[in-house]
Formats: sequence, structure tokens, C-alpha cells
Amino acid sequence: MNGSSKNPYGPNPCDYLSNVNSFRIIDTTLREGEQFANAFFTLDFKVKIAKALDEFGVDYIEMTSPVASEQSRTELETVCKLGLKTKILTHIRCNINDAKVAVNCGVDGVNVFIGTSQFMRKYSHGKDMSFITNAAVQVIEFVKSKGLEIRFSTEDSFRSDIVDLLNIYTTVDKIGVNRIGIADTVGGGNPRQVYDLVRTIKSCVSCDIETHFHNDTGCAIANAYTALEAGSKYIDTTVLGIGERNGIVPLGGFMARMVVSSPDYVKSKYKLTKIRELETLVAETVKVNIPFNNPITGFCAFTHKAGIHAKAILANPSTYEIINPADFGLSRYIHFASRLTGWNAIKARVEQLNLDLTDDQIKEITKKIKHLGDVRPLSIDDVDSIIKDFHADTTKIELAKEDQDKKRQALESSAAKDGDNSEDHQQKKRKLDN
Ligand SMILES: [Zn+2]
Repeated sequence: MNGSSKNPYGPNPCDYLSNVNSFRIIDTTLREGEQFANAFFTLDFKVKIAKALDEFGVDYIEMTSPVASEQSRTELETVCKLGLKTKILTHIRCNINDAKVAVNCGVDGVNVFIGTSQFMRKYSHGKDMSFITNAAVQVIEFVKSKGLEIRFSTEDSFRSDIVDLLNIYTTVDKIGVNRIGIADTVGGGNPRQVYDLVRTIKSCVSCDIETHFHNDTGCAIANAYTALEAGSKYIDTTVLGIGERNGIVPLGGFMARMVVSSPDYVKSKYKLTKIRELETLVAETVKVNIPFNNPITGFCAFTHKAGIHAKAILANPSTYEIINPADFGLSRYIHFASRLTGWNAIKARVEQLNLDLTDDQIKEITKKIKHLGDVRPLSIDDVDSIIKDFHADTTKIELAKEDQDKKRQALESSAAKDGDNSEDHQQKKRKLDN
């Protein structure tokens, strides 16, 4: 057993290609997120979210192509003029006409994409690999000539022929592309496939790698993490994971993963306390609720229920928590209103209510709560009422006792003074004793 403070979830020191401690975020809420079914983004919203993402500290913000619509172009130009620290990218098709419009919008870089799988080539754009390669070279050289960053990504990379992928990636790498993109456009990839593909491509190019994972099979965050292990440096995210279909890697969930693996890097680079605000802003705008099981911000993400858990959490939160809610500006909650509760949880509640009860009394209350919890669901109010009623009863008994003691003392002192030992006095005393 390793008794040192080594992080068991940290990057493997043998993974010399790993970027788990040095990754970058490209947030595409304002491009991929705009493709979410419920999304209708106004200029005001785009400005607000861009500023919030900048404050959070994402490295890049990717926005919808200016060719998509007049309004898209206006929004892109407006966000570029905000003077944010975060670099602004726009996402365009791999053709020179789109590139010419993009470079005139004030962006820091251009993210170019084209489908390379059999499906995309047959049913989407209908072009062969030599056409794709020529178009890529033309666009990359043009964007570079304007002094801007350029990324070239294939679409549907996991269903593309590996020889085709290596050919095009090595070609664009040779002409100085800044990043190549690998995209799991249909969300079918699993972590092992991701590791193998990213690792293979990484060994053939010298530029950086960006990865884009859809969440159709629930692997988006795991795939993103594995891609970093294999040498990818840039991860595409959106707030709450919104995007085409059921979306991509969620920024908050990805931060939950990374703060566990790479706490120093993550906490020094990103303002984690902004996550909740970002998610609330996006959830309200696209009219969805934050899911109950969302990492970090799901309503029960830091709620502990079972008595045995509550006891340990109260003694040391790390016993059942891998993430400290305080890192995200949140607090943990001990769920005490159920049949699974324990007396330690009830004791904590008694202290919160500022009541004074002994451990034995609290154990008695816990029994009552568990008994009622067997019969029906309990609310916090139910538990608080049981505690308060019990407390009131014990207080009443104690007050009555005190009152009785006082009366007895008074009686005794007056009897001593008068030397009264009459039958009347004895009767009064008997009454008090009863
Ligand atoms: Zn996508």
C-alpha cells in the first residue's frame, strides 16, 4: 500500500505523451451548442456567454461560421471586438470562399473541417480524398498567409480509413497547420479506440491535436480524458454538453474529471466557481433543467444519505467524496430525512437547529424518525418537527422539575424559619414529591 499523498487518479508517469496536466479547452457552446435542438441564441446571449467563458478561463471560444447567416457574421464580429483574453475561433467548411469571409471577421484563428468517412464522402459532400487534400492545402496556406491560427479536422474520423487519415494529417502537418482535429462525430467511439487512434496519429505528426467527442453512447468525457492520455492537447466542450443530438463533452463534467486527476493545474488555471453560473445561464436560455445526476451541479451531487455515509462524511468528508464542493463554490448536504438516516446525521441537524440534547436523547429521536420513515416519505420539515417536539417536551419536563425544586426549597426554608412541622406542612411536601 502506498501511504504517501500520491494521487491515485493522477496521470500515469509512464504516459510520456500525456497532456492530462497541460490540456487546453476549446469551448464551442457558441457553435456546436447552437446546433442543439432548443437553441436560439441572440446577440445579447452570445456576448454574455462569451464574457462568462472568458472569466472562467477557457483557452478558446469557437463560434458559428460567418457564412451561416448575416446575423451569425454580426455576432462573430461583435464577440471578436469585446477584447477578451480568450482567443476567438470560427468553424468553417473546407473551402476557400468560406475562409475568405472568416479571416475578415477579426478572429484569432479558423477551425476547418471536412468529412472523410465513406458515409460523409458518399452522402454528404461527395468528394474524393485527393479533392479533400487539395482543398485543405489551399485553405491552410491562405489562412496562414493572413497570420491566423489554423486547425484542420476530419469529420467522422473513427469511421474513416486510417491510411486516408494519416495521409491527410501528415500532409497538412508538413505545411504548418497549428492543430489537427480528430472528431467522433457520431459518438460511437470507446476509450480504447480513442487511445489507439490518437496515439497512432500523434506518432506521425508534430503539430498539436484537438479532439471532439459526441456523447451518443455516453463515453464523451471518458473519451476526452483518454485522448489527453494519448497525446491530444485540446478538448472541445460546451456548457452542459449541448450540441447536435445529445451533444458533446460537457464543460462542467469535464472539469469534474480533470480536477480529480490534475487538481493543481485545474484549480490554478480555471475559475471553477463560475461553472454553476455558466450552466444556469445556458440551461435557462435553452429551456432545460440541469440534470439531477449532473457532475458538480446536479441537485444531489454532494448529498449524502445513508447513515453510515453521513457518519463518515461528518468525521472526514473525503471518506465518501472525491471532489470538494467548496472548490466549485458549493456545499455538501447531509440528507437526514429518511429511514436510512443515522444518529450522527440527526445530531448534526440538532446542532444546526441550535438545540441542546444529549446523545441518548438524539438516539431516541432517530428511532422515531426511522420508524416514521418506514411508513412514508419524510420531508426535512417532518424531521425538524420531531426534533423540535422532542426538545420542547424535554424542556417542559425540565422546567417543571426546576419549578418543583424551587417550591420545595422555598417550603423547606420557610418551615425551618417558623419551626413548622405541622401536618399541613407535611401534606404540602408530600404533594410536591408526587
Ligand atoms: Zn460536433
